[in-house]
Amino acid sequence: MVFLQGCEIDIEPTSISGPTAITLRPNKFTDVTMNEYIYSDTGGVGVLNFVYTENDLPQVSNEELPNVEIRFRIEPADGIENDPANNVLSNGYAYSAKVNGTLTSPIPRPVGRLSNYVVRLEKDQRIVSVGYTASDVSGIYRVIGEAYYKGSFVTAKTSMVYVKIPDLREFDRKGYDSYKKMLWNFVGQTEFHISNNYVQSNKVGYALSDIAIYIIGAYAKNHNGDSNFIVRMTDASLPWGGMFWIGYTSSKDLIIYDRVDGYGNPYTITYDAYVHKRVYAPPHRTHRDGRNVDISSYSDDGSGNKDTSKYLSFDDIQEAVSNYNKIPHMEVWSVIEEADHYHLTCNIASNYYYPYEY
Ligand SMILES: [Zn+2]
Repeated sequence: MVFLQGCEIDIEPTSISGPTAITLRPNKFTDVTMNEYIYSDTGGVGVLNFVYTENDLPQVSNEELPNVEIRFRIEPADGIENDPANNVLSNGYAYSAKVNGTLTSPIPRPVGRLSNYVVRLEKDQRIVSVGYTASDVSGIYRVIGEAYYKGSFVTAKTSMVYVKIPDLREFDRKGYDSYKKMLWNFVGQTEFHISNNYVQSNKVGYALSDIAIYIIGAYAKNHNGDSNFIVRMTDASLPWGGMFWIGYTSSKDLIIYDRVDGYGNPYTITYDAYVHKRVYAPPHRTHRDGRNVDISSYSDDGSGNKDTSKYLSFDDIQEAVSNYNKIPHMEVWSVIEEADHYHLTCNIASNYYYPYEY
């Protein structure tokens, strides 16, 4: 029995075909993410039950069930019109990589893996339980269990899997003070990701808008009182978190060895340096659970461009972080220097990828 907006509703199971949906967290695998690990808990692994009733298999008696084979597969269930995780690439065929050495387009999306792909029923067996391990890419996935009787297709059952980091929410793209002066501009939307501005719970959101003010303060103090600095943020997390693939080429080859396709067939995928855009592949390893955000080392000009006349040094941002952390007497924010930006981590949020490493 559940309560919805004051109404009391008795939920009667309308079918006994098992759960129609489960929600899991995206995993993180050593194959794509060196030095980082799959969860230590079971948040990224679940069980789906597929039930094949007498109605589903009308010609098949209980004794005949050993002649029934269930063939499972996984496919992405989100698309251009329904893309809550922002992981669907509309012109996917524009990009390719090498799958088992052969140039392939579109680049296959990791769909997770099952404990079994083919199960033969036993006498009187009408329920099949299948383990599902989420991939590192968030989104909606469909697991289909097709029943074949003596080799002929009879029926199919489907379960949905939602792969997402819980509790992410959108951070405002622009922030202003009470005098309408711009404090931050959240940039970096690309054809690969429109929604790059999700953070974990309101806690991180408030801490992020606050640290922007500290950054402006530290910049002003070290630059003759110039308080017209606009913090230029980018790439917190995707709306459902998980791997934040950004579609860049890299100066290094990337080979991912043990992916499996929707039917459980292992494959190796290779992204050549300078050639293949990293679609469904790292870098950006830490931007997965709404705790991390990149801050440009230049001010924004208010229109989404860098103002190269205003340079934020590592000392400036370290001073801002240290001043911020002094108030609660804890390391709410930490910062490291990256190529052309600073990488901020909010340590008061849940770390879904423990043990955490940069
Ligand atoms: Zn970063």
